[in-house]
Amino acid sequence: MPGSDVEVVVVGGGAAGVAAARRLCAASIDCLLIEARPRLGGRAWTVIDESGFTLDLGCGWLHSADRNPWVEVAREQGVAIDQTSPPWQRPALEVGFPRTEQDEFQKTVAAFFARTERAAQAEQDTAASTLLEPGNRWNGLINAVGTYISGVDLDRLSVKDLDRYEDTGVNYRVFEGYGTLISNYGAHVPAMFDCPVRGIDHRGKRLRIETAKGAITADRVIVAVPSAVLAAEHVLFTPALPAKIEAAAGLPLGLADKIFIALAGAEEFEENVRVFGHIDRPGTAGYHFRPFGRPMIEAYFAGGFAAELETHGEEAFFDFAVSELVHLFGSDFARRLKPIRMHRWGLDPFALGSYSCALPGFADCRQTLAEPVDNRLFFAGEACSRSDFSTAHGGWFTGVAAADQVIATRNSAR
Ligand SMILES: Cc1cc2nc3c(=O)[nH]c(=O)nc-3n(C[C@H](O)[C@H](O)[C@H](O)COP(=O)(O)OP(=O)(O)OC[C@H]3O[C@@H](n4cnc5c(N)ncnc54)[C@H](O)[C@@H]3O)c2cc1C
Repeated sequence: MPGSDVEVVVVGGGAAGVAAARRLCAASIDCLLIEARPRLGGRAWTVIDESGFTLDLGCGWLHSADRNPWVEVAREQGVAIDQTSPPWQRPALEVGFPRTEQDEFQKTVAAFFARTERAAQAEQDTAASTLLEPGNRWNGLINAVGTYISGVDLDRLSVKDLDRYEDTGVNYRVFEGYGTLISNYGAHVPAMFDCPVRGIDHRGKRLRIETAKGAITADRVIVAVPSAVLAAEHVLFTPALPAKIEAAAGLPLGLADKIFIALAGAEEFEENVRVFGHIDRPGTAGYHFRPFGRPMIEAYFAGGFAAELETHGEEAFFDFAVSELVHLFGSDFARRLKPIRMHRWGLDPFALGSYSCALPGFADCRQTLAEPVDNRLFFAGEACSRSDFSTAHGGWFTGVAAADQVIATRNSAR
């Protein structure tokens, strides 16, 4: 098999793996990226619909854009950057949610995050749900928004982890799609596709990476697969690495799914405005009207509620969205809606979810997951980031950090 003996193997071609491989290539290191899918990008995935619109089925927002390295890549690639402020930073539509109530909700959310900050200083970690005020009318919606942020309901979310997440509040998008941006960045990296890695044997002097297309030997490996894939032991280590697998299990991938829905007569609505299906419950979707001004709605489902819908098929998401939108805009509204595209990330065997969160008591697992083993096995991926986890730029930072560790250990061994 060509490339069956290389210096460094990178397992996984998402944001982290691509950033790592680019760094290694720039240092003239003989490396090979091995990807299970037929494409790069992983959870960054842009598809094109019948009308020619680019749809990001995974990440879409370049969060913390003023320090997000993908922004520089976008500039280098000459793609159009959209700096319109995101729907969550502007008032929602008032239907079913008058402005006075929105203000009250925002104040309650701010108080919740202030309690989170204080509680995170305590020695003992706890679940974020313990910080809800018993009986507060906004608890359902706070939980819903919590699932959009973390992918899990608040009772499964570590307060310390939630508090460690850093966001500058600057958010951009790219018209060509975040997925396209990331996969184009890796376009010239030596890579093998449709090639799941099944095991890494680190008993011998050299590493043996078992793949669906045969074995590859290497001196070092950067493992950049999702934490949930590691926890499920779809990549088996010999000898086993129980501390690593335990750390990965403490950082499961929460769930967030988007469905894009065509909207007839969309001009009636303001661009980039959001509405919640309901304001009194955790199981509700957020509807982003006219993203990029396009005649569609991007509906966002997350947490246990989305996991339940996944078991009923893609139609269940559309049917649910129609029921909520009809509740808000009247029964005629259903005729204006047509499903375009979605992806169920929880059922995707190479993701097993959308973005990592730490379970209560497991926030420090991120550091454990990121630690190299024996200066030969290195780890990357958004789940390894202490403060930029769950994002594509977090993936970048961990990929580059792992590549730099490889370069440093290689140089010191000479
Ligand atoms: C619906 C949704 C919305 C999101 N929104 C945003 C957003 O707006 N902004 C943002 O920054 N982030 C967002 N995210 C999160 C973001 O997409 C991820 O955090 C980021 O892309 C993760 O990059 P990664 O390289 O760590 O992992 P991945 O992208 O998952 O890459 C891992 C790679 O490993 C491969 N792989 C898995 N198993 C194997 C194996 N056995 N052998 C070989 N290869 C394997 C996978 O196929 C994949 O390509 C969103 C995610 C989803 C799903």
